[in-house]
Order: sequence, then C-alpha cells, then structure tokens
Amino acid sequence: MDQGLLVPDELTCDLVMDRIQQDDCKNGFILDGFPRTIPQAEALTAALDHINQKMDFAIDVDVPDENIVNRMSGRRACLNCGATYHIVSIPTKVEGICDRCGSEVVLREDDKPETVQKRLNVYHEQTQPLIEYYAAQNILKTVDGTQPMEKVFADIITILEK
Ligand SMILES: [Zn+2]
Repeated sequence: MDQGLLVPDELTCDLVMDRIQQDDCKNGFILDGFPRTIPQAEALTAALDHINQKMDFAIDVDVPDENIVNRMSGRRACLNCGATYHIVSIPTKVEGICDRCGSEVVLREDDKPETVQKRLNVYHEQTQPLIEYYAAQNILKTVDGTQPMEKVFADIITILEK
C-alpha cells in the first residue's frame, strides 16, 4: 500500500478473515466495499467455507450511473478546512463560500463527471459481475438506491431482519 500498488486479493481476504473472527463479529458482520471483484468473492467464499460460515445476503444498492454522476457533480469541498457540501442537499449559507472558514468551495477533481464516469466504468467491468455471482447463490437482494437515504436504510434493515 505504501508504494501505491494494489493489495493482492489473498492478502485483502486474509485481513478481512482476521477481522471477522474477532469477538465483536460473533453475532454477524457487514462488509462494505469488499469483495469488489470475482477473484476476491471466490477467495472470500472459500475462506468462509473453511471456517464453516457463509454469507447470508449480498445487497445491491442499485443507482443508475446518471444519478451518481449528477449527485457527485453537486458536491462542493472546502480545500482549506475540509468541509463538504452539496448544492442541493447541504448547501452553503452563502453560495460558493465555506460556512466554517469563509474560503471558496470547489468541485473536486474526483467528483467531476468525467472522473466519476471513469470510476463507474471500472465498476461495471470489475464489480458488477458480482451481482450475477451472488444471484446464482440465491443470496442477492436489491435495494432501490434512488430513494431517500432513510428509506434505503429501512429497506436494508428489513432484509437483514428476515
Ligand atoms: Zn472551509
């Protein structure tokens, strides 16, 4: 990681396996952002199988690309103090000016439509195949991620409580 290289799948999976075998995971755990690729998912399935465990659900929070690009392009960040805003959902009191420190707020390079679309292309290529992978195991649940945040959260809780 120090060299800016990608961490090999086996190492990532080992780290996750160590973590989920700690006491606070006895009653269950949620993985967010892992696995991201088919090889990672296969390594995880094998490692869980090894300790007689399996995943109960894989939750796909579904949001069309267009919504993601629009949401991200509304983000604004203060490069001086690190505060973040959104032109629709968390606007600054004075347009373009940070509430906290008075500096200018900007659209970060990471949030620009062309950068976001590049990340989405990587997602479609590497991560989206997991939807089919977990659907084939009959554990895929899909939640409509375009709903208000509270409704998305409630839908996920409903799935987990079953
Ligand atoms: Zn600021």
